[in-house]
Amino acid sequence: MKISIIGTGYVGLVSATALASKGHKVTCVDIDEDKVKKINQGTSPIHEEGLEELLSKAIQEKKLKATTNTTEAIKDSELVFITVGTPSKENGRVDLSYVEKATRDIGKALKEKKEYCVVTCKSTVPPTTTQEKLIPILEEESGRKAGEEFGVCMNPEFLREGIALKDFLNPDRIVIGELDEKSGNILEKTYREFDSPILRTSIKAAEMVKYASNSLLATKISFINEIGNMCKELGIDVYEVADTVGKDHRINRDFLNAGCGFGGSCFPKDLRAFISEAKKEWKQEPKLLESVIEVNLDQKTKLVGLLEEKINLEGTKVSVLGLAFKPGTDDIRNSPAIPIIKKLKSKGAEVVAYDPEAMENMKKIHPDIEYADSPKKAVQDTDACLIVTDWPEFQEVNTPKLTLEGRRMNKGEGICW
Ligand code: NAD
Repeated sequence: MKISIIGTGYVGLVSATALASKGHKVTCVDIDEDKVKKINQGTSPIHEEGLEELLSKAIQEKKLKATTNTTEAIKDSELVFITVGTPSKENGRVDLSYVEKATRDIGKALKEKKEYCVVTCKSTVPPTTTQEKLIPILEEESGRKAGEEFGVCMNPEFLREGIALKDFLNPDRIVIGELDEKSGNILEKTYREFDSPILRTSIKAAEMVKYASNSLLATKISFINEIGNMCKELGIDVYEVADTVGKDHRINRDFLNAGCGFGGSCFPKDLRAFISEAKKEWKQEPKLLESVIEVNLDQKTKLVGLLEEKINLEGTKVSVLGLAFKPGTDDIRNSPAIPIIKKLKSKGAEVVAYDPEAMENMKKIHPDIEYADSPKKAVQDTDACLIVTDWPEFQEVNTPKLTLEGRRMNKGEGICW
């Protein structure tokens, strides 16, 4: 199929590359000229395992190209995905301006286009957005009727950064929220080569599925962190508890890793948006979800508190291992490492940081700390070490008396969860 993907960030570029690898002809659109240039050279602007190899193969085989021109891209497309960002506004509600702008551009392009085309929103948007906001924009700009002259679907994305490509290609389920059967049938054709169950729903149910999924996963994380804090007090290994609890198939072991709480570009913003919409638009009081956020905020800097129980931070040198919000990515959006470094600095500690992928991004937020070029150098002559992100290469430092490649810390201890 001929597909256009509007917005080539984590979701857009991964979707584009994966769909091209399944034989579709994909055109990526982005307003960022630098990204477009890199993509056309076969270079990935983001770090994701296996992405650059597959991207450069798709470029060489002429299955994928990028442009800044939406009309040009959509001209031949049977399907258009919207994958632009939906960040939080100051008040916690979703900033829909990027999605609305992209939708307007698509609507204008549809006006010029003769063939039937299905517009599919993959960006995470609150329930009813596609129906009540995006379809009216498309109809107004194109002068055409949705469900008759063009199709509309909502296809939420569940990939996880770090293993995004693998997740996209092997999803637990593909959710197709459809305006009408014809739209859903065309979108389903896109996933013909995928070996995953396809669930077809209404558009607003598909939007709700995405928020419900993220909310439940975030709830599991805050839950195990609360249990973990109790375990710490009682000298119980929370991982042993999680392993045993997780054996119950009704519960499942996934997302029961106690740590510094959740970060990233999705859970924090999606939960805040969900709560705000529920309160302002649906007259609901989502008390459970509010506590999930509260527990998470407290959790982020708990590690510094644990360290303070062991040493006075004033005048010490502390290494922070792991800056990305999770292993396998260079994304530091809402990473616990940001407030942890801030707190260490405010307590008078000097910070040396290391991360295999995320140091360049962190330098923009904390330019005034030291960055080491290996974990070994990061812990050299420091008084303590905090392991914030669970990169596999930090495994060997996970001991109470920190040892890294045979080297012992001066006087402090390595702390992780
Ligand atoms: P991102 O910020 O990484 O990328 C968005 C891209 O869209 C940027 O490259 C930006 O330049 C481009 N853009 C903005 N306006 C545009 C326009 N009018 N035309 C063309 N390009 C435009 O965002 P992301 O992390 O990929 O997330 C995209 C959506 O997917 C969000 O709604 C997010 O909540 C959702 N989502 C993200 C993830 C994830 O792990 N990142 C997972 C599932 C769902």
